[in-house]
Amino acid sequence: METANETASTPRARRRRLCPVCRSEAWRIAYGMIMPNEQATMPNTVFAGCCIQMRERRNPKTAEREVGTPTWQCQNPSCGHEWW
Ligand SMILES: [Zn+2]
Repeated sequence: METANETASTPRARRRRLCPVCRSEAWRIAYGMIMPNEQATMPNTVFAGCCIQMRERRNPKTAEREVGTPTWQCQNPSCGHEWW
């Protein structure tokens, strides 16, 4: 049941992330072998399997270059931005 009143007053109800580039909805990326029955309990998740991609970014706090594994993926097909 979704109502218009269900917003910031329920912080743990829905962890929604918005893409910092295009403001579309983003999904969490899950790595590793995840069984289909487990996947069924994880909505709004991208299952990336075992091919962990490394991305380079500029740290927003220190402005230094760093390499990491993205944990969020934009679900806008024309954007596809990944970040962590
Ligand atoms: Zn995006």
